[in-house]
Amino acid sequence: MVKAVVVDQPGGTPTVREVTLRPVGAGDVRVRIAAAGVCHSDLSLVNGTLTPQFPVIMGHEASGVVAEVGTDVTHITVGTHVVLNWATPCRACWFCKQDEPWLCSAVEGKVSADTGIRDGDETIYAALGVGAFAEEVVVPATDVVTIPDGVAFDVAALMGCAVLTGVGAVQNTGRVKQGESVLVIGLGGIGLSAVLGAKLSGANPIIAVDLSPEKEALARKAGATDFILSDPKISRQIRSLTEGRGVDHAFECVGHPATIRMAYGATRRGGQTTIVGVGSKDQEVVFNPLELFHFSRTLTSSIYGESDPEKDIPKLVEHLQDGNLDLDLLITHRVTIDGVPEAFARMSSGEGARSVIELDLG
Ligand SMILES: [Zn+2]
Ligand SMILES: [Zn+2]
Repeated sequence: MVKAVVVDQPGGTPTVREVTLRPVGAGDVRVRIAAAGVCHSDLSLVNGTLTPQFPVIMGHEASGVVAEVGTDVTHITVGTHVVLNWATPCRACWFCKQDEPWLCSAVEGKVSADTGIRDGDETIYAALGVGAFAEEVVVPATDVVTIPDGVAFDVAALMGCAVLTGVGAVQNTGRVKQGESVLVIGLGGIGLSAVLGAKLSGANPIIAVDLSPEKEALARKAGATDFILSDPKISRQIRSLTEGRGVDHAFECVGHPATIRMAYGATRRGGQTTIVGVGSKDQEVVFNPLELFHFSRTLTSSIYGESDPEKDIPKLVEHLQDGNLDLDLLITHRVTIDGVPEAFARMSSGEGARSVIELDLG
């Protein structure tokens, strides 16, 4: 039996329950979770934006230590430190063969799955097929990425989702080059990771925008050269920072019509606006045909930072070890396994960046 954070119904309160994991199969590993980040997608599982099967164990952004390996697993040993990968591509579908693993058909739409977790006779589903807000998980060995022992578990956890997504949006989707101007709107874990990515790419200026003035210090620490409090009229301020043109690259990390318009309006003619935030299907963003033609901007999205975790997590580890990626600043709160409701409350009110659940490795 392991403790896990379970939500019973849409809008339900996350509560800790004891569940039984499936036995370790030939191709599986059992991972003792050390740290797990509370991601916006976890909140989306509860508030109706995503529609999982219930009851569901939340969590997908996590790190830990391999405690048991299946008989067919030869490349990972007990004691190996790993980051969980919730979007393992199948490497066989059309998209994977096109070298676009972040669009893998096998991963698309995977919100929850029956991975063999039970409470008595009751099936408990695992969020994104992972269910990482738990003392342990059993997953296919392909769902973990090995990291060096020296990497702290808390920042390693964030590499599994927020950092891949934010840094990847800038580096893989935007292909931001040295000296280009970057705007990031929305400074949660992903937005701050995008600022970190922009700094890694040598962007200048890096303009960060958020509703909360308390984000300024975090944004500047992450590498922002300028901070602007969100306002519908920010595009004038942004033009004044970019010789009147607007930014080469805007990254919208909110998923809201107003901030998408804000990002588009702040992008220079011929520049690129990238939607990173996940919005709802019940809202609309309006563009007029003349502006689409005249400004000649590329409007695109970045799914999972267009990352391939197996290749990109080791790159992030290198940047971390070289001192070029300060992931500690992303962690503004630490909680125990009971602390998910308070982490959700902070996320809803836009307070802080990531809350990380820390677990006892025993
Ligand atoms: Zn996530
Ligand atoms: Zn695939």
